[in-house]
Amino acid sequence: MRFDIITIFPGLFAGPLDYGILKRARTAGLVDVHTHDLRNFTHDRHRTVDDRPFGGGEGMVLKPEPIYDAIASLNIASKSERLPQKETVILLSAQGRPFTQPLAQELAETERVVIICGRYEGVDERVNELLCDREISIGDYVLSGGELAAAVIVDAVVRLLPGALGNPDSSRFESFGADDVPDESAEDGPPRSTYGSGGLLDYPHFTRPAEFRGTSIPEALLGGNHEVIRQWRRRMALKKTLENRPDLLDRIALSDEDREILDELRFLRENPGP
Ligand code: SAM
Repeated sequence: MRFDIITIFPGLFAGPLDYGILKRARTAGLVDVHTHDLRNFTHDRHRTVDDRPFGGGEGMVLKPEPIYDAIASLNIASKSERLPQKETVILLSAQGRPFTQPLAQELAETERVVIICGRYEGVDERVNELLCDREISIGDYVLSGGELAAAVIVDAVVRLLPGALGNPDSSRFESFGADDVPDESAEDGPPRSTYGSGGLLDYPHFTRPAEFRGTSIPEALLGGNHEVIRQWRRRMALKKTLENRPDLLDRIALSDEDREILDELRFLRENPGP
């Protein structure tokens, strides 16, 4: 897989790409990440990439011509042929479609992703219309530029590439993970989780020491009873999701048992003990 990132600050990517899973995936040849300095595609003495907005108002807007030339230099398919060629061009924008785990999975199945990082007030809209397949936002807040958002997308996508994670199950059994996948380890091996998270948030994790500053780990994790551990993890995943992201519960296929647990958790929340 190959990423091409168009930016006025290529130096910003030196850190995020050089550690951990990303670094390992690059070294192993699973992914190539190329950054392209937008100023190299300007033709004036001042290497101008921005201009004042039509209609007035504050700030500057990234001009379309350097971005057009940057994309042309990348030799990617024309807009109509990109999908079959497994190529896509993304414009980063606070007005974009939200970046989610399913979208990360969709991108992990392409072969080439071009990312345009905006700055200032944003990018001339004709770039979006003429050159881009998707407009993506990484969250409901405004960043000063697209570079950190691009690093977030590269990170989330690369860890889904086959071979990127030491244990491929890690991306199945985590927040927003695969649909309910029965845990084949149920009979003999140690439990990974009750099921694939099926869109729930991950359950809490604990490691040694069992006692830390007067706080012990939950009883259920101590006895080595796989069924008890699985039930506890499912309950905690439901609890975390109910507390932090109740909106997710409307989109998840829940079992009757899940619903009973949620009813009980809601009751306990509304009727806290003494
Ligand atoms: N005027 C824009 C608005 O109100 O939506 C904000 C522009 S922002 C200061 C500059 C650039 O940062 C954007 O063009 C975009 O590339 C990037 N950016 C800002 N917030 C983002 C977000 N939530 N997700 C992805 N990119 C973002």
